[in-house]
Amino acid sequence: MTDSPTTTPPLFEVGARLGDRAGRTGTLTTAHGTIRTPAFVPVGTKATVKAVLPEAMAELGAQALLANAYHLYLQPGDDVVEEAGGLGRFMGWSGPTFTDSGGFQVMSLGAGFRKTLSMDSTSEAADVIATDKDRLAHVDDDGVTFRSHLDGSTHRFTPEVSMGIQHRLGADVIFAFDELTTLLDSRAYQEESLARTEAWAARCLAEHRRLSSLRRPQPGTLAGTPTGPARRPQPGTPAGPAGPALFGVVQGAQHEDLRRRAARHLAELEVDGTRFDGFGIGGAIEKENLATIVGWVTDELPDDKPRHLLGIGEPDDLFAAVEAGADTFDCVGPSRVARSSRVYTADGRENLLVARSRRRFEPIEDDCDCYTCAHYTRAYLHHLFKAKEYLAATLTTIHNERYVVRLVDRMRAALEDGTFDELRAETMGRIRSSR
Ligand SMILES: [Zn+2]
Repeated sequence: MTDSPTTTPPLFEVGARLGDRAGRTGTLTTAHGTIRTPAFVPVGTKATVKAVLPEAMAELGAQALLANAYHLYLQPGDDVVEEAGGLGRFMGWSGPTFTDSGGFQVMSLGAGFRKTLSMDSTSEAADVIATDKDRLAHVDDDGVTFRSHLDGSTHRFTPEVSMGIQHRLGADVIFAFDELTTLLDSRAYQEESLARTEAWAARCLAEHRRLSSLRRPQPGTLAGTPTGPARRPQPGTPAGPAGPALFGVVQGAQHEDLRRRAARHLAELEVDGTRFDGFGIGGAIEKENLATIVGWVTDELPDDKPRHLLGIGEPDDLFAAVEAGADTFDCVGPSRVARSSRVYTADGRENLLVARSRRRFEPIEDDCDCYTCAHYTRAYLHHLFKAKEYLAATLTTIHNERYVVRLVDRMRAALEDGTFDELRAETMGRIRSSR
């Protein structure tokens, strides 16, 4: 701990290590409970994991949930979430919460970024950003102006705005506002963007420090101090210590020197005694380079702070990231594919809509311990999807989230008992042999 008034780290402690490699277990302590890492953090973009009750997420072993600042800012509004007592209380989730900064959505989903790129894939993305009149997001050195994907209204995010929104949303872990780049961006643009992200990181720290000092309930109380086991929120009770931990986000795309420089810069960055409490690893990463890039970054980051890899959830990616020293991960994948009838299994992903599921009166997986596999058959799920029943999404999402949460839990156990490589070989060998 530090006696700096605005540094509110979730206490992170490293546990077991993966030999001389970067992989490790750990504990990340927040005001709403402790996360044992490595841990998969399911995504509830708009303050709900689509189609699933928070109780079911807790029951399937989710230790924390991640929501999105951009979406909640537009709807219902961060002021509404704040008035409700913060994200966790608003959505009826008593455990730890994360929000991402909104940068990714502002510059991609909300802005039609991917669409623009796919329509004109020969252009450098830098040109697209600079010149396309129809683009819904425009980046300058101060921030990003964008149009809402909901109603086309114009908004502006700056590092200060993003910090304000995330503080009002009240998650336990929040992320610095960064610029999204793509692999199509030129090296020159990546450098320019990285410089901007670094400048924004310092502004995020300064604003985070200011907002944290305003919200601090009692001088000398560490906002990150745990208050005991996660509990169900009661209406009318105080929101509790609410100072979030701020993670800086390491960008730099596929360039080793840029990634290492960015990681070193953020690790050393200090504004009036405030440093980042942890780090996100973001941006454009090709699957085959994931382990290498995460390795560059964790090599430069301080060992005693947590690292969150943004946006991954496939088994092979998770093994690679854990080995390379990432501690937490989030991904919409498990719930998104569940809603289109695809389920994770030990043999890889399968589609429940295939005709042979129609009379398979057996669970998705015999050895899955989820609620869905305990109570329902593939035949029933096949029927629900065919009949377009809402329950289909609920039941398959529960299974998929459980699959990924449990897989990462197994990785953690394997790190502790020295069998990580065996678990990886066994898990990935079976998935590959089934393809
Ligand atoms: Zn299951």
